[in-house]
Amino acid sequence: MKNTITELFNIKYPIIQGGMIWCSGWELASAVSNAGGLGLIGSGSMYPDVLRTHIQKCKAATDKPFGVNVPLLYPQVDDHIDIIIEEGVKIVFTSAGNPKKYTSYLKEKGIRVVHVIANEKFALKCVEAGVDAIVAEGFEAGGHNGFEETTTMTLIPHLREVIDIPLIAAGGIGTGRTMLAAMALGADGVQIGSRFAASVESSGHDNFKEQIIAAKDGSTKLTLKRLVPVRLIKNKFLNAVEEAEAKGAQRHELAELLGRGRAKLGMFEGDIHEGELEIGQISSLINEIKPVKEIMDEIIQEFNIAKSELTSIKL
Ligand code: NDP
Ligand code: NDP
Repeated sequence: MKNTITELFNIKYPIIQGGMIWCSGWELASAVSNAGGLGLIGSGSMYPDVLRTHIQKCKAATDKPFGVNVPLLYPQVDDHIDIIIEEGVKIVFTSAGNPKKYTSYLKEKGIRVVHVIANEKFALKCVEAGVDAIVAEGFEAGGHNGFEETTTMTLIPHLREVIDIPLIAAGGIGTGRTMLAAMALGADGVQIGSRFAASVESSGHDNFKEQIIAAKDGSTKLTLKRLVPVRLIKNKFLNAVEEAEAKGAQRHELAELLGRGRAKLGMFEGDIHEGELEIGQISSLINEIKPVKEIMDEIIQEFNIAKSELTSIKL
């Protein structure tokens, strides 16, 4: 298909792989790009030299477009931006910060810029900053999440009314049916994280991938709302957070409990009890660890079947 998203990035399908810390290295990003979507290297878990290596390996593994996700809270964000420019990356997705900071600078360098938001206020700020597209991420999404808890079902049609730049839906999307639903709500494309976190090419630990497969309806929860809300699989660590919160723990006590590197411990080192396991609600529908190409083929096939089923419906 051709639409604003496929044309913006020069890709076959309007499917973007979420830039996920610890899961989306060059192997995942290049596999998604080779399968016709847009792969993103998740730089939030990478030291600068690691990011450079991943970009170089991605360039060697695909001749298709790919991008880098840069969480603006990252401590060495300026170094990352320099590396992205030096390595000639043409697409950047920024998140977790103010889009005004880097958008015009990146665009002057000929880079397409997309920013991730979870509410109308930041969507309007993105438009003002001149981004090429917005990713709007609903409550269902894994990992860090907005404070408003607006679901994808509400966020996408709401933003469709207030912005007219390309809109990419995220949160709760991982199948052809959910992709079709997001596009019916007004999205021009989708960003998929969880389903790719559980792919063969994801750099996440096998223990983490198995937890995604095992996740059922209700297995994840948005937690740590007094710090930065994050959706995790329920485990020993999440129980400890809830116990502390029930006893009225303050921000600094929660920060102390969280400590440093919990996400790495869970998702990269595979400690499923003590680590943070960041994944979305759609994990309840993910039942097998598969190669990216198979995942993409399934999504496209299911999308087309669901779309043809709907054409016979009349009210
Ligand atoms: P913590 O402060 O708990 O730990 C930092 C982790 O990041 C460590 O595991 C460390 O690896 C790794 N790291 C990579 N580069 C650096 C660097 N330049 N300086 C310090 N640490 C670095 O943070 P989190 O694990 O919660 O988050 C890490 C980063 O990921 C943050 O920048 C955050 O903004 C981003 N993030 C992005 C998300 C997304 O969805 N895009 C979601 C969550 C976080 P090591 O142990 O090897 O030193
Ligand atoms: P603040 O909420 O204090 O915001 C810092 C500055 O950036 C403010 O100027 C704020 O604008 C602006 N800002 C924050 N987030 C966005 C955004 N998404 N889009 C546009 N502008 C933004 O900073 P915190 O450090 O407490 O948290 C920043 C946000 O990032 C939180 O909403 C958090 O949930 C999210 N986050 C996302 C991660 C990810 O990787 N997806 C990782 C970690 C955090 P203003 O003053 O106008 O409010």
